Amino acid sequence: MSDLTELGVTAIRDGVAAGDFSAREVAQAFNAAIAAAQPALNAFITPTPDHALAAAERIDADRAAGRPLGRLAGVPIGMKDLFCTQGVRTTAASHILGHFVPPYESTVSGRLWDAGAGMLGKLNLDEFAMGSSNETSAFGKVISPWRRGHNQDPAPIAPGGSSGGSSAAVAARLCPAATGTDTGGSIRQPAAFTGIAGIKPGYGRCSRWGIVAFASSLDQAGAMARDVRDCAVLLEAMAGHDPKDATSLDAPVPGWTAALDADLSGCTIGIPREYRMDGMDAEVAKSWELGIAWLKDAGARVIDISLPHTHYALPAYYIIAPAEASSNLARYDGVRYGLRDLPEGAGLQDMYAATRAAGFGAEVRRRIMIGTYVLSAGFYDAYFTRAQKLRTLIARDFTQAFASCDAILAPTTPTAAFALGEKSDDPLAMYLNDVFSVPASLAGLPAMSVPAGLNGEGLPLGLQVIGRPLDEQGVLNAALAIEQRAGFVARPARWWA
Ligand code: GLN
Repeated sequence: MSDLTELGVTAIRDGVAAGDFSAREVAQAFNAAIAAAQPALNAFITPTPDHALAAAERIDADRAAGRPLGRLAGVPIGMKDLFCTQGVRTTAASHILGHFVPPYESTVSGRLWDAGAGMLGKLNLDEFAMGSSNETSAFGKVISPWRRGHNQDPAPIAPGGSSGGSSAAVAARLCPAATGTDTGGSIRQPAAFTGIAGIKPGYGRCSRWGIVAFASSLDQAGAMARDVRDCAVLLEAMAGHDPKDATSLDAPVPGWTAALDADLSGCTIGIPREYRMDGMDAEVAKSWELGIAWLKDAGARVIDISLPHTHYALPAYYIIAPAEASSNLARYDGVRYGLRDLPEGAGLQDMYAATRAAGFGAEVRRRIMIGTYVLSAGFYDAYFTRAQKLRTLIARDFTQAFASCDAILAPTTPTAAFALGEKSDDPLAMYLNDVFSVPASLAGLPAMSVPAGLNGEGLPLGLQVIGRPLDEQGVLNAALAIEQRAGFVARPARWWA
């Protein structure tokens, strides 16, 4: 086998099971790729080569002894550094958790290890998953493996955020798959920016237990991989009811992989009128048209639909998410977790202030200030209550649309990836990136981004499928139909090693 890092999840699992190569060889190949790329891409905060090797050796021993192998046996993956991993530093890309070593394992990561996966490392992200470019990490930006000018222009490109380490690592073949979390687009947007697939399941599918909280009513874990099938395989291992998370869905996990089917006969796809925004990037509009044609070719009927409150999704999200974040992040007080800054002779209040000022970066502080403002006594009804009402209307738009269609097709992002620094001084421009991804988050719906092609500069464009509640299968199937027709084989030139 020439280069094992070329293989995806399914190919690795099947190859290990068949004895074509050992799990140890796979882990070694990815460990070496990470070591070579880390100085240039900074996709990982904490590489964990020993964890990957130890897991691989257990699988090789199981196979040699004829013991049954799990569905991810021998597959090493990247873990977004928002999932608590027992005994392995978990930072949320924040200085305030820079030395936090959890004494427990998140439910999702634990399930992945139980399925036979190993951990290549903890992946970089925006601080506390707040961002769209992976520039807010206290551990440095992640550089996308992609470059403009068909790989010729050396200006560093954003890998998307907040799961920018995950997207960069999968696109650069530093891991066959990675976990992500998506609060308002953080799986789908970085997947679109880097030419990979990423699925956010419906709210409640994956347990949030042991995931560092950002906005609890929106946060969902999901899968990022090079193709739709590998996303389905990973997600199946991650999902499922967890008594430790009261919002986790008490429903069986369907066999999504076994039921993958790109024949969309009898299926109706809705095209939301309100997503055709003024000034939409012409190449994004063109890829959307192509997507419509591909879905028709797969047998689907395509209709126009209306989601009339789309316009309010972004403002509602940027009230609700910071409000919940300001509450969740109150726990970082210098007493219970991580960093403590205790100036000489300081009192308790001074310690809180000093710790939080030293521990949180600018974007996190901005969100805490917005959040506490919209929750404050005088403004609660004017902002938070109204945003909650809008959230209800946005969710109702989807319910009404799903009376006439089975899934919705839209672009994932309004543009292809931007250059690092291009939007970092303008938070509103950064937030606008999420315009197509936050509606599904507010409504708690499953949604997926799948690569659709390259723009004129050679950067990937993604298409998004949004599904009915509990219909991850419909999302995966429509995404598969797109994937088969898009024939996306482009990849970043390996300039980093
Ligand atoms: N970009 C969005 C934000 O900054 C979404 C982040 C996310 O999904 N975690 O809030």
